Amino acid sequence: MGAVGVEEPPQGPGGNEKICVSVRLRPLNEKEKERHDVSDWECINDNTILYRNNLSVSERSMYPTSYTFDRVFRFDCSTRQVYEEGAKEVALSVISGINSSIFAYGQTSSGKTYTMSGITEYTVADIYNYTNNHKEREYLMKFSAMEIYNESVRDLLSTDSTPLRLLDDPERGTTVERLTEETLRDWNHFKELLSVCEAQRQIGETSLNEASSRSHQILRLTIESSAREFLGNDKPSSLTATVNFVDLAGSERASQTLSAGTRLKEGCHINRSLLTLGTVIRKLSKGRNGHVPYRDSKLTRILQSSLGGNARTAIICTLSPARSHVEQSRNTLLFASCAK
Ligand code: ADP
Ligand code: MG
Repeated sequence: MGAVGVEEPPQGPGGNEKICVSVRLRPLNEKEKERHDVSDWECINDNTILYRNNLSVSERSMYPTSYTFDRVFRFDCSTRQVYEEGAKEVALSVISGINSSIFAYGQTSSGKTYTMSGITEYTVADIYNYTNNHKEREYLMKFSAMEIYNESVRDLLSTDSTPLRLLDDPERGTTVERLTEETLRDWNHFKELLSVCEAQRQIGETSLNEASSRSHQILRLTIESSAREFLGNDKPSSLTATVNFVDLAGSERASQTLSAGTRLKEGCHINRSLLTLGTVIRKLSKGRNGHVPYRDSKLTRILQSSLGGNARTAIICTLSPARSHVEQSRNTLLFASCAK
């Protein structure tokens, strides 16, 4: 692929501080169909999702029936479309030296991993398309991956499961000590590293769903570029920026009260990261100055330099259509509404 015909990376819509919020409705799955569950949600246009089931008068005063976002994706939309219209601009701003974060938020089994893994791959492919044989600049792509479980950070590219410490660097902000960072050689190398992450995630867990419902996964790409020759003062000689793909713990962990023992401890910690993220996002979306409690959780500390300020954020809220999940779906839409 040559530089000829390659366009400038897309610029984001609206102001820098705007958080792009979209909602993706998944189809009913086989299990739900078998138990005759039905879908109560309908996307009536590109921005509005409706709750269709008849509500009593008292319920109608408690719950909105119509929700509006930057974009809503019907159950039959492809992940490619979700990427193109809900994440691409934010993700590719990394090429121009702007940090960004893309989140998948929703209850367990609503489609977070399905959505985020597609988005991550499309982004890497697009970055390769744009940067390979670029006329003016030379690019380097670095990859790292971590998991936050119980407020403990683990390297997903290393077999050493010792928790990683967070360090405060006056220049670079919060960094993760000893986190493996691999320079990507090519697409196949990237795919290999993804399978290493997948294998690491499964180690020591009784069931994948259990683990993924409680932990946050961050895949991180850092793009470094340098000008091949001096191009004038308006074109920086070197740029570095990071894009984070965050597959969050199941959002039911933010509302559910768990039973005693370890479960309670895990529940509390997950509350902490998810709840702190919610607070941080709400503060940022209001665009007011004032205290943003980044330091209250590991997740928000790690992401601080990729949230707020000049950084760009996209949140994709995944929704199960099933009537039996209506409460969790409403919670997800409430989170999404607060992030706008
Ligand atoms: P989560 O990560 O939120 O727990 P998953 O991404 O694992 O949920 O999705 C749960 C199941 O539903 C998976 O089998 C996945 O393949 C399927 N699924 C999720 N979203 C979609 C979709 N939009 N279209 C088709 N299947 C989907
Ligand atoms: Mg998942």
